[in-house]
Amino acid sequence: MKTSGSTGIPLQIATTTVTRLLWSAFAMRDHFWHARDFTATFGVIRFMRDPERGAEGVRSKDWGPPAAQLRTTGRLCALHIEHDISVQLDWLDRERPDILLTYPSNAVELARQAQRGARALPRLRELRLFSEVVDAQTRSFLARQFQARVTDVYSANEVGYIALQCPEHGHYHVQSENLRLEVLDDEGRECRPGQTGRVILSTLHNFAMPLLRYESGDYAEVGEPCPCGRALPVLARIMGRTRNMLVLPDGTRHWPIVGFSSFRAIAPVVQHQVVQHGLDDIEVRLVVERAITPDEEEALSGEVRKALHHEFPIRFSYTKSIERSPIGKYEEFKSMIA
Ligand SMILES: [Zn+2]
Repeated sequence: MKTSGSTGIPLQIATTTVTRLLWSAFAMRDHFWHARDFTATFGVIRFMRDPERGAEGVRSKDWGPPAAQLRTTGRLCALHIEHDISVQLDWLDRERPDILLTYPSNAVELARQAQRGARALPRLRELRLFSEVVDAQTRSFLARQFQARVTDVYSANEVGYIALQCPEHGHYHVQSENLRLEVLDDEGRECRPGQTGRVILSTLHNFAMPLLRYESGDYAEVGEPCPCGRALPVLARIMGRTRNMLVLPDGTRHWPIVGFSSFRAIAPVVQHQVVQHGLDDIEVRLVVERAITPDEEEALSGEVRKALHHEFPIRFSYTKSIERSPIGKYEEFKSMIA
């Protein structure tokens, strides 16, 4: 299989029957941990391959492997991510899934569009997120808007399942049977609970192409052991890739939290993306409902500077939509500084 190359270089990874079997095992563990009802209708809005990209979506009578190999399941319906949010809401109205799997950024767009158009969101039992980093603020916003349980999973094509969300607590349990995960600080020392460092992975079962101390590009905060009784190591938070970190003029890097709710309180912003092109060049890309006034631009600049913890010069650009990466990821903040 190939990875997206979101860290720069696409990788081609050899997989084996054993790695695929393990993928299935961890997928089932995730279902069992979260006590999913296998008879539920499972909806998916994600990146799909041609020719499955029509606005009517695709249907299948069961969830597919591995769940359908082990249990009798409800049906599955899926829609390609690139459809307009209003098309997605229409599709949800028709399909009425109980569980919806999609990207956090897309779930946020669904919630906001439903709010604006006074449309109902589907009555979900569970909103299942994947593929993008999701912060606590976004998770609670989504839980409120969808009135559903929100779960997340941490996985990567090149290694499979990395960590599953604890069903009793918001943090993540490392899937140590699949891989060894180290969180290292800048000096290469193992981080302690409460500390954040680089995520380094070694796969334990891929003998066709072992990855040894593979730098994932992600950062995570180590957590305390979990009181739930599961002895698997805990990650308190997972943060984005290095390229999603802001670089300050003194060379330090940090994760900006560029809140969507504060933007919305200032001006009719539909979608936003903040791009750092250089140490003194921040571009704010906006999709808006109507032209933004100079006063609103000024107020938005203030919010962005506050989030970035620095008095950057800020320029605005306006666009009809903000593109996702080739595999459907949407980045709220990205830095082009290597
Ligand atoms: Zn736990």
